[in-house]
Amino acid sequence: MKWEDGDASGNVEDRRGMGGGIIGLIVMAVAFYMTGDLRQAKFIADRVGPVVNKAVPPRNPGQGKAGVNDRMLDFSKKIMGYTDSAWADVFAIHGKRYEKPTLVLFTDRVDSEGCGVAPSSVGPFYCPASRKVFVDPSFFEELESRLKGSKADFSKAYVIAHEVGHNVQNLLGYNKLVEQYRRREGENAGIRLELQADYLAGVCWNRVERERSIIEPGDVESAITTAKAIGDDRLQKNARGWVNPESFNHGTSEQRLKWFTEGLRTGDAEKKALDRFFNPNIPPLKL
Ligand SMILES: [Zn+2]
Repeated sequence: MKWEDGDASGNVEDRRGMGGGIIGLIVMAVAFYMTGDLRQAKFIADRVGPVVNKAVPPRNPGQGKAGVNDRMLDFSKKIMGYTDSAWADVFAIHGKRYEKPTLVLFTDRVDSEGCGVAPSSVGPFYCPASRKVFVDPSFFEELESRLKGSKADFSKAYVIAHEVGHNVQNLLGYNKLVEQYRRREGENAGIRLELQADYLAGVCWNRVERERSIIEPGDVESAITTAKAIGDDRLQKNARGWVNPESFNHGTSEQRLKWFTEGLRTGDAEKKALDRFFNPNIPPLKL
């Protein structure tokens, strides 16, 4: 994937190294000293840490870390730039304004500003309340080790575009719609939203590709491998006290694959194409 020539998005927050790291440990040590109770100290650190983090600016804001991590920051900005312009175009066609999400890079844990404090084990996720996408780069390092080198780039781009897809759903009202289905279909209703997000990720890269031609041979296959690998339960790991918007069923890997490639093939963002996922006659597991 030739991502380097894109326009960098200004909506990327670099919070790497600020998570539960040193500040969390200091808060925990102080709390332990004061309470003498390790469990209570951890409870306090989990809640106070993110607040302190917000108040203390990072040492080199926007600079990230040296070496391989700078590529991560650069990559994230460019990928968000591509998704921003693709969706701004689609929304403009329909006379709407696209409100860009912010991507937050973090390590260990992060305050999602509306969806609780998340440990990195939950995987990439989108918080509708803050309209932010959260990614711990260690998730991407895992993908890289599995996919070997540059072929992992489009897989990462797919994952980011899936989360950005949740922002599109948020803006178009599908997030609210799924609540109605939840009463009838329980947690499986979430599959509708997840598969639509995969479809939207495909649509997004179709639109980018039409303009810039950046996808290389092998890229789509690697993203498909990723879609398979992260189907079902990869993003479902949960932690206590944390409402994870990605905690529901994502559908089977076959379903994810089907809809991502369909979006990639057609680039169709018309209402009819998007409403398919909310057809009451088709149960979520049959989509
Ligand atoms: Zn999702």
